[in-house]
Amino acid sequence: LVGGLIALSYPLIFRRRAVSPGLESPLQIALTAFFLAAGVALTILDINYGDGFTAYVVVAVLSGILLRNRNLTVVLLFLAAAAAIVVGLALQGAPLTWTRGFQLTLFTAMGIALGVVRERDRRDRFDAQLQLLEQSIVDPLTDVYNRRFFIEELERTVQRRKRYGHPFCLAIIDIDQFKDVNDQFGHLVGDSVLESYAWMLLDHLRESDVVSRYGGDEFMIILSETRLPEAVHVLERLRRHFEEHEFQGIGRAITCSIGVVECPEDGVTNILIQDADELLYRAKEEGRNRVQSAAST
Ligand code: GH3
Ligand code: MG
Repeated sequence: LVGGLIALSYPLIFRRRAVSPGLESPLQIALTAFFLAAGVALTILDINYGDGFTAYVVVAVLSGILLRNRNLTVVLLFLAAAAAIVVGLALQGAPLTWTRGFQLTLFTAMGIALGVVRERDRRDRFDAQLQLLEQSIVDPLTDVYNRRFFIEELERTVQRRKRYGHPFCLAIIDIDQFKDVNDQFGHLVGDSVLESYAWMLLDHLRESDVVSRYGGDEFMIILSETRLPEAVHVLERLRRHFEEHEFQGIGRAITCSIGVVECPEDGVTNILIQDADELLYRAKEEGRNRVQSAAST
């Protein structure tokens, strides 16, 4: 009866709790152990009134279907339950016949299999959710953040600047004459250049910096905890790297132009992007392959 009540209330208890793979709630383990212990006790008591493994089968199915435990936990709990039944039968003086042994093995294996399938199903769903989340924030070609996520993150960073005074700079990087790369070498090679650019950006910047593909051949970067002179220094190093790097399949360097601004205390996201964009435009006008900087207005 108690087991039945717990089983019924189970969906209510765990409805909102997304236990991630690798973690499991002690309550889940306790519930599985409780179900199995009840099944074991009833089986031992029933055994002298016909070969009754019914209680054990019921709890094996119930815990397999309802509970979500890690595979190792499931295996250990079921092995403990099977061992307890063997000991219980011996104490009752009931012999462990071939039939009983076969039934015990079969139902234990069934319980473990159900538990493992249930766990795999949960992991699959967790992975699917994770994949969806990743797809919603990551640019599929380059694996850096997409424009939508970046704008949200920039907004949060501007707020942090306002509230806690953390300085940061915003940089826009646009590849020089990228159309020519596409025209000369084709779109696929162009794509691989974009990928390499993203990887090199990640490689040269700190982990706390946020790199995104803003669109086309344009990348946007938040340089966290960074003042303008330091940002210019880092970006100059990056620009020189691209100036000297020979791209595979192209046999020459592909330069970029960069606009960078430091966010003022009362910075506004749109104005910050606009300022960085204007500086990028100036960098292009003044001959490309350069870093143009200013404090944002
Ligand atoms: P500029 O120095 O003025 O930036 O010249 P540009 O040729 O790079 O001109 P612009 O930045 O305006 O053009 C970007 C080009 O990037 C246009 C388009 O052909 C190319 N492009 C945009 N998205 C992709 C993409 O996903 N893959 C590839 N291969 N090319 C792209
Ligand atoms: Mg360009």
